[in-house]
Amino acid sequence: MKIALDGPSGAGKSSLARAIADKLQIVYVDTGALYRSIGLFMRSRDIDPKDAQAVEACLPEVDLRLAHENGEQHIYLCGKDVGDSIRTPEMSMYASAVSAIPAVRAFLLDTQRSIAQKTSVIMDGRDIGTVILPDAEVKIFLTASVEARARRRVLELAEKGIAATYEEVLADMIERDKNDSTRKTAPAIPAEDAVFLDNSDLTFAETVERALAIVVEKTTKIRR
Ligand code: C5P
Repeated sequence: MKIALDGPSGAGKSSLARAIADKLQIVYVDTGALYRSIGLFMRSRDIDPKDAQAVEACLPEVDLRLAHENGEQHIYLCGKDVGDSIRTPEMSMYASAVSAIPAVRAFLLDTQRSIAQKTSVIMDGRDIGTVILPDAEVKIFLTASVEARARRRVLELAEKGIAATYEEVLADMIERDKNDSTRKTAPAIPAEDAVFLDNSDLTFAETVERALAIVVEKTTKIRR
């Protein structure tokens, strides 16, 4: 089974994907972490993430490995687990910048597709339903108002010990939404056959319940 979960930053895709993966006993793939890791690599080389030529030129040196250990995703960049170092607001902006570069998207395509060929997955990102897994049985586009998303992100960062104000996070989020939805390659837009789920006014438990109902509805339709 392949489930594509797309939507803007901070809609709660990763928590939802984790809950569904756990419930259905399938693998969760967080594709944003791959873009973040490429951003981290560029920063370690002092490369401007918006400089497409410079980023593309050093892609062959990026040694990225995706692994699942005890149900958790780990990314090894040049042999070293990136851990939470990719979760800072700075890395969010780096990821957003490098993700607009077609060569970066092409570089990560196989990594993403090959894992879905090997096992049942729920994959979260921006272009999973449109580009990476266009044949996914279930496609969900998870959204929430930008204010609700910024509020949640501030709490999430605080839990990780990363200080950020609501205003900063909101401004970053508005900018990332704009970058992600207007870029030429694989813009973050819903697939035609995606089901919308707006969770601005839903609790986490309600969001999980609705998403699971969508999975059941879509998969029983296929079996019929
Ligand atoms: O989901 P997350 O916030 O970790 O993603 C970081 C950035 O990576 C996003 O702002 C987006 O620009 C990019 N991204 C993408 N396509 C994906 C996943 C993430 O362009 N499938």
